Amino acid sequence: MKILIIDDAPNSADQLTEMLLGAGYTDVSDVDSLDRALRFMQRSLARETPVDLVLIALENQDIDGIAAILTLKSHREFEDIPIIAIAAEDNSDELDRAFAAGASDYIVKPVGRTELRARVRSALQLRREMIKRMLREHELERLARKLERMSNQDGLTGLANRRCFDDTLIREWVRNGREDNSLGLLMIDIDHFKAYNDALGHVDGDICLRSVARAIRAATNRPGDLVARYGGEEFAIILPNTEFDGARVVAENIHANLAKSCIRHPDSRVSCTVTVSIGVAAAVPTCDTTPEHLIQAADRALYQAKQSGRNRTESICLPDPDQLRQ
Ligand code: GH3
Ligand code: MG
Ligand code: MG
Repeated sequence: MKILIIDDAPNSADQLTEMLLGAGYTDVSDVDSLDRALRFMQRSLARETPVDLVLIALENQDIDGIAAILTLKSHREFEDIPIIAIAAEDNSDELDRAFAAGASDYIVKPVGRTELRARVRSALQLRREMIKRMLREHELERLARKLERMSNQDGLTGLANRRCFDDTLIREWVRNGREDNSLGLLMIDIDHFKAYNDALGHVDGDICLRSVARAIRAATNRPGDLVARYGGEEFAIILPNTEFDGARVVAENIHANLAKSCIRHPDSRVSCTVTVSIGVAAAVPTCDTTPEHLIQAADRALYQAKQSGRNRTESICLPDPDQLRQ
């Protein structure tokens, strides 16, 4: 472990170094100014061999020991490094101030070998435990982030899952309503996908779902757009702040992307490649309508697209009370 001595009296720094080397600590350095100490600590951190313990003499010619402790502790990246203050005499006021500034221990001169070893050993032990705890905390945070991502992501396609879609739709409904913006919604369903699975098997079916997901994702370009796998071979897109015409453009992009992808469908009655039918709906959220109304409208438009021959888009713009009453 790396130990740094801050002391501008060369003799006492040499003496401490010699005692620490004698005690088996091999990485011991000393500096004679606070500036050099900070530079040394920053360099060590950048090389991923951070300083683990600082010994600082409180009485120096040019360094105010207490102020130096305060400065070190004010750097966020150094705040967890233990500091042992070395006092010229047993002055309880000064030691109080050293502890208040952030020192974790102290030694009064003349420094004895046994005492130095014991204090350094327990300070480094503390440091090791702190590092272990920090690593555990980082690992837990990483796992929590992964879990959060997984709970919102569809495993097969990497798109948002149904749960994320439901949460986002409610959130965007409220937000777009508050801002008086139109919210667009697309419901997308692969045409004759059962026949695709029947002809090529489920493994190829899954590969096809991934390709379709990519083509759909590539059709959106705003960071706020949410592309989700709604269920089996159905997808949905939430388009915040998007008017009816804008939502239809996204739908046309999807048809175009799929035509370009040219995924062979051996048994479709619509085309020799995989196609989708799309239902588009858009509405400015109001007190009289709910997200379910928007879903129902997009679903109804999707049904119309299927009925009128597939591989096409139909759309419904809300509010349309007649459509809602049907
Ligand atoms: P339509 O054009 O009317 O939508 O016909 P369709 O065959 O696509 O619709 P249908 O609802 O009859 O069949 C959907 C099929 O999607 C049934 C199922 O085999 C397939 N499917 C759903 N989820 C998955 C999945 O995760 N992987 C694979 N490979 N197939 C799936
Ligand atoms: Mg379906
Ligand atoms: Mg289908």
